[in-house]
Amino acid sequence: MLTIQHNIDLGEHTTFGCPARAEHAAVVTNIQDLQEAVAYARDKGLAIRVLGGGSNVLLTGNVAGLVIINQIYQRAECVDGHDVHIRFGSGENWHDAVTWTVSQGWSGMENLALIPGTVGAAPMQNIGAYGVEQASIFEELEAFHFESGEIRKYTAVECDFGYRVSVFKRELRDKVMITSVTYRLSLDPKLVTSYRDVQEELAAMSITTPRTLDIYNAVVSVRTRKLPDPRVIGNAGSFFMNPVITAEQASELLEKYPTMPNYPQSDGTVKVAAGWLIEQCGWKGARNGASGVHDRQALVLVNHGGAVGSEVLELAEKIQRSVADTFGITLVREVNVW
Ligand code: FAD
Ligand code: NAP
Repeated sequence: MLTIQHNIDLGEHTTFGCPARAEHAAVVTNIQDLQEAVAYARDKGLAIRVLGGGSNVLLTGNVAGLVIINQIYQRAECVDGHDVHIRFGSGENWHDAVTWTVSQGWSGMENLALIPGTVGAAPMQNIGAYGVEQASIFEELEAFHFESGEIRKYTAVECDFGYRVSVFKRELRDKVMITSVTYRLSLDPKLVTSYRDVQEELAAMSITTPRTLDIYNAVVSVRTRKLPDPRVIGNAGSFFMNPVITAEQASELLEKYPTMPNYPQSDGTVKVAAGWLIEQCGWKGARNGASGVHDRQALVLVNHGGAVGSEVLELAEKIQRSVADTFGITLVREVNVW
């Protein structure tokens, strides 16, 4: 039987570690728990929010309503010729899922190693790293609708995946809980080695013809070296999305800032590195009370210890203003602010 907890500490459930309490919370391990939790919220007229690993949430105050903490675990695979279809319960840890698939010799998830959080949150912002997005291996998902109590299947088209966005981050935000995700992996690796860090790591490992496991090891090694570990210093990864601007705006900026990293997209727009823009504005290593900008990766805001969410948000807003004033670019938050 499901237990509803009251007034619980939420900070420890997020990687930023800013303090906040949940009015009501329930750990759900299966669909029946979920149905009971949603019925409880409906009876009491409570808003519902879903928390996975808490690695993309900034808490700025106590959370009213019911927080569902997702612990739905399941793995079921089916091999079909060269394809492997794997259905994951949405509470499965993402990195453990990647590690398991690579250890089975299945290819597709290796570039996405060491991303914190749960499988169920991966479609939400269409997680991506080193040239691969989860959309490229996505087959379908199931989502429980809070209002109707229905479980609905979604194809990739219905999820409307974009750059760090999907229908679940827009129209369906806080209206559904993703309960399972099915990915299609392959026994025939199509490896992506387009990012310089991955290429350099493979070269340092003296690997000229990489296999799936080599890419996985290279990504784990680069990320371990470059990115701040939330167990050591609170953070939620990239605080802002990389802006995508018009080709015209990019060429004007490149005249003024010839070293600005820029990545032309297939639709003619240009992606620019938010971390570089923030660094140019002098924010790398800066502090605002106990919150700060990481000293090696300016796109990551950190909790030096005891930071409250409003301090982090205030720092983020200062950075947004300064990047807008300098480059005429609006940085959009990637992190979900609660
Ligand atoms: P949470 O933080 O718990 O939730 C995030 C949002 O998704 C919330 O709005 C929540 O309500 C919603 N949500 C969660 N689960 C569900 C569900 N089952 N159904 C419906 N909604 C749900 N992201 C990348 O894309 N690429 C990276 O390389 C990357 N690297 C990171 C590195 C570090 C060190 C950190 C701290 C974060 C990084 N992230 C990265 C961000 C984060 O790990 C991902 O967004 C991840 O998918 C979040 O998973 P989570 O379970 O922790 O989600
Ligand atoms: P990086 O290699 O220093 O590159 C900076 C930015 O330039 C990245 O954000 C990346 O965009 C872009 N970029 C670099 N090489 C590119 C290429 N060959 N083609 C297209 N775009 C390129 O980045 P980093 O900070 O060390 O992160 C490495 C990877 O991990 C990135 O893919 C990044 O998205 C991912 N990551 C994400 C988070 C998060 O919270 N979202 C946190 C840490 C790392 P993209 O971001 O579009 O890839």
